[in-house]
Amino acid sequence: MEEERNFVSGIVPPTERSEPAWWFAFQENKLLVYQESSSISIPCLVEFAELGLTTLDQHYLGRLNNTHCYAVELGEGTVPPAGMAFEGLRQVYGRLDEDLFWVAARAVQIVDWDRTHLFCGRCGAPLRTKTTERAKECPICGQLHFPRLAPAIIVLVERGRELLLARSRHFLPGMYSVLAGFVEPGETLEEAVVREVKEEVGVTVKDIKYFGSQPWPFPHSLMIGFTATYVCGEISLSDDEIEDAGWFTVENLPTIPGKISIARKLIDWFVSKQRPSHEN
Ligand SMILES: [Zn+2]
Repeated sequence: MEEERNFVSGIVPPTERSEPAWWFAFQENKLLVYQESSSISIPCLVEFAELGLTTLDQHYLGRLNNTHCYAVELGEGTVPPAGMAFEGLRQVYGRLDEDLFWVAARAVQIVDWDRTHLFCGRCGAPLRTKTTERAKECPICGQLHFPRLAPAIIVLVERGRELLLARSRHFLPGMYSVLAGFVEPGETLEEAVVREVKEEVGVTVKDIKYFGSQPWPFPHSLMIGFTATYVCGEISLSDDEIEDAGWFTVENLPTIPGKISIARKLIDWFVSKQRPSHEN
């Protein structure tokens, strides 16, 4: 599922800038966008100040196809300029250029981390932002604080021509997806796969193979995708999270997640693998 992204991460902003840069401006977790009919875009300006908005903070992110990118935090109650609006990232997916979307996914996490990590969790002193790496340092006790990332596994379990899908009680009505869960401290990713599948549906799996990964900025997950093969066990739901689970074939798939997610990429992979034999 490899996609090339033409983004080079950076910490140190250019000393002089005369070319327009991309500005990913957020109020809470909502992105400032130009509202156009079907597609949307974001500001590409030499200075964000051209929009006349007051900013709380600004973070250099790096370069997208050689254009500098910045994350900007806007205060509560900021009124978007004429023709602009604040939109959630899930809502802009598919309408904003894909490369810009994934930089926005970085930007929102940096802004959120900056806003929620003002004080040292160890001694309570106000933190200082480091200029050489994406981190904050406590000037009193020296503790380093890095952006928060929560790794989670996501796994497509196969049983011959069937795949295992489940629905969480938080899903939209009728929607099913592959299983996912957070990695516990001390666990390998493969152990997390085995444990999650066992805990959530009571099934044992083997042949765990890496599929791909995807940032999931809602709010700060990293999804690590796997495929696995069914070994034994009847589906039994013990977890409150899952309200239904079952084996599905390509011919009887329920409603599945949208194209933004790695869940969908896993399911699409399974479907495309099944299709040739079924068309013959
Ligand atoms: Zn401290």
